[in-house]
Amino acid sequence: MSRVWNFSAGPAALPQAVLERAQREMLDWNGSGASVMEQSHRGKRFIEMAARAEADLRSLLAVSADYAVLFLQGGATQHFAQIPMNLADAGDSADYIVSGHWSEKAVSEAAPYLRVNVAASGEAGHYLALPPRESWQLDPQAAYVHYTPNETIHGVEFHDIPEVGAVPLVADMSSNILSEPLDVSRFGLIYAGAQKNIGPSGLVVMIIRRDLLQRAGRPMARIFRYAEHAAHDSMLNTPNTWGWYLAGLTFQWLQEQGGVAAIGERNRAKAELLYRSIDGSGGYYRNPVEPSARSRMNVPFTLHDAALDAAFLKESETAGLLALKGHKAVGGMRASLYNAVPPEAVQVLTAFMRDFAQRHG
Ligand code: PMP
Repeated sequence: MSRVWNFSAGPAALPQAVLERAQREMLDWNGSGASVMEQSHRGKRFIEMAARAEADLRSLLAVSADYAVLFLQGGATQHFAQIPMNLADAGDSADYIVSGHWSEKAVSEAAPYLRVNVAASGEAGHYLALPPRESWQLDPQAAYVHYTPNETIHGVEFHDIPEVGAVPLVADMSSNILSEPLDVSRFGLIYAGAQKNIGPSGLVVMIIRRDLLQRAGRPMARIFRYAEHAAHDSMLNTPNTWGWYLAGLTFQWLQEQGGVAAIGERNRAKAELLYRSIDGSGGYYRNPVEPSARSRMNVPFTLHDAALDAAFLKESETAGLLALKGHKAVGGMRASLYNAVPPEAVQVLTAFMRDFAQRHG
């Protein structure tokens, strides 16, 4: 068996120990004689597993009883639309902080459901820095403030939680949830597609302050209403049972790693090593993001001569380094360093980068 060093932006690397355990349990899960995918979500075994996954997530992030934890479907993109449906009436407005590709998408999907106020945008600076907090034009009447703490494509990350007063703060944490300790009490709603730091795609984890569940004013089908999902323990209809199970295994793995404080230290060190290699390459490699806004999870970088890109990708793949091609919106390369990417992977990558620069000087 040959596993690669996987820098995929998502669906991304999962902890090998999680995959091995899922493999061991594939044919006979929990003494049931069937896989977890082959049995009812209403059964005792599944309900116990689901409750444990929720409890483990709550303990990892110290989520208080004031919040509901939901295991939903539809990807983060569906919730770009479903959040305004649930948190605002048709005539309301909400503030959006636009810091890159994914917050742009959040704006366009929300627009049919409420008035979107782009309270700040980094677009004019090509999303190489965060819009400074002093420049945000927040509306105290806004239904909520939405932002994207980590922009997966542009590689910019907020390193502090913005202070927005009494208006509920809504965060798309798809690409940085569980990557470091988090003060959940600062948020009204946190949501994340699972396919980076949690598990397979097709699952969305949401942490929502219970008072916000009461907001839903507009008529909509029950299946769209977060309050209904909360009232039915995320089993209003058949959940993504496989995704939920794998998420639960990942939460257990995270606890074994020492929790989010320990993984946060590890993530910081991984990112530091890569940025140091880029900055120390004498301009051979470049990351254009303003240093204080650099992402710990997604590191885009370019080579000094784009004509070398193809060779870099080909040789890196031969060296067992997977998925370093950058997103077409920014070009160049991107290394995603999620929780499941071990420090050794970054050591192998930076050694490869040094070696490549010497050979193609
Ligand atoms: N938000 C962020 C920050 C993302 O990185 C992504 C996916 N890469 C999405 C939203 C969209 O997620 P999905 O494909 O699950 O809808």
